[in-house]
Amino acid sequence: DARGAANPLDILKRVYGFSAFRGQQQSVVEHVVAGGDAVVLFPTGAGKSLCFQIPALCRKGVGIVVSPLIALMRDQVEALKQVGVRAAALNSSLTREEAVAIRRALSRGELDLLYVTPERAVTDGFAEMAADIDIALFAIDEAHCVSQWGHDFRPEYRGLDCLASRFPGVPRIALTATADPHTRDDIIERLALNGARVFTSSFDRPNIAYEIVERDQPRQQLLRFLSRFKDASGIVYCLSRAKVEETADWLNAQGIRALPYHAGMDRALRDAHQDAFLKEENLCLVATVAFGMGIDKPDVRYVAHLDLPGSVEAYYQETGRAGRDGLPSEVWMAYGMADVIQRRRMIDEGGSPEEIKRIERAKLNALLAICETAGCRRQAILAHFGEAHPGRCGHCDTCLKPVETWDGTEAAIKALAA
Ligand code: ADP
Ligand code: MG
Repeated sequence: DARGAANPLDILKRVYGFSAFRGQQQSVVEHVVAGGDAVVLFPTGAGKSLCFQIPALCRKGVGIVVSPLIALMRDQVEALKQVGVRAAALNSSLTREEAVAIRRALSRGELDLLYVTPERAVTDGFAEMAADIDIALFAIDEAHCVSQWGHDFRPEYRGLDCLASRFPGVPRIALTATADPHTRDDIIERLALNGARVFTSSFDRPNIAYEIVERDQPRQQLLRFLSRFKDASGIVYCLSRAKVEETADWLNAQGIRALPYHAGMDRALRDAHQDAFLKEENLCLVATVAFGMGIDKPDVRYVAHLDLPGSVEAYYQETGRAGRDGLPSEVWMAYGMADVIQRRRMIDEGGSPEEIKRIERAKLNALLAICETAGCRRQAILAHFGEAHPGRCGHCDTCLKPVETWDGTEAAIKALAA
């Protein structure tokens, strides 16, 4: 039983084997242990999970964690079990027997943490089940999914405000690595967290070097970028499944060990490629955006984009998978005007209502501005999240190659033409 010690620092040491809290983890933990609601806006890799796991272990009852992806739940539950925490996930991938066993453990108070999908958390059945047990807290992970401004809107998240009315007095903590002001306001409003304390930390990832180039010969450009790394693993993002396959094949032909990953692949093969990526130290995973959420591989040394993402949030999330261990890492994107045209067409022809299309266009334009900036990229990215940075970080391409020597006029011409 992991709950032998009720003191947060003891739990951090004894259960997780870490010597100290990071950043504001301790403040969040203490606030939630005391019964407060919290909104936690920390970047990827900051350690948000402990912000709800430790309070769940300190407080009486089970911590209920709402999480958007079954794969994400599975990874977290496995990691928790390994350190002796009694964790389980209720989702559609379980057999009847497994689901019954989890419900039984729950009703007997034998679980520390229970992961559920948002669809399930809002059902009457869930409310009935939860009415009979002690609940330590509700954690709403990846809370940006509640917002259409977020890069990963999930309508099911919208119903989660019912937790506030159904379970008054149970602390709620919403967590995300997306913190632009629109998304943050949406989280607070949609999840009825107006009284919550908001914890933010800088979104700067100082160990990540940013580079954005104009695409002319993408394969040769990619090869040149990858040649900077030796015995290192990284991710190459492509927009389409076909391009993922072609790029992986081509890299292998060039002597770079690469594996494809996209949602159109056979499930077992996809999992095998993900596992290989997590374990190996010299592997290039070529993937669509289907890969990445919740992946905790600390030593991803590079992230390359062969196509433009749809928003700054998506770009930040995807590049943020590099360098979670804090060591120097490089992210690189090759983009061209064809991307912009394609993205605009995807928005125009997509099924979203006009109101959403307007948002999507605005988000694309915000990313384009970062691509086209002559100033410090880090400063521009952080400004998007409402954070001031003095600029001239000295690590991004625009800092290393100041504007006069490259594309002052070209950028201006393109900006006028766009
Ligand atoms: P996030 O959800 O914010 O992206 P995670 O909760 O997945 O981040 O944590 C990222 C990594 O940091 C994990 O490997 C986790 O074990 C580690 N970690 C978190 N807190 C600490 C800490 N206080 N000391 C050392 N490692 C930590
Ligand atoms: Mg997380």
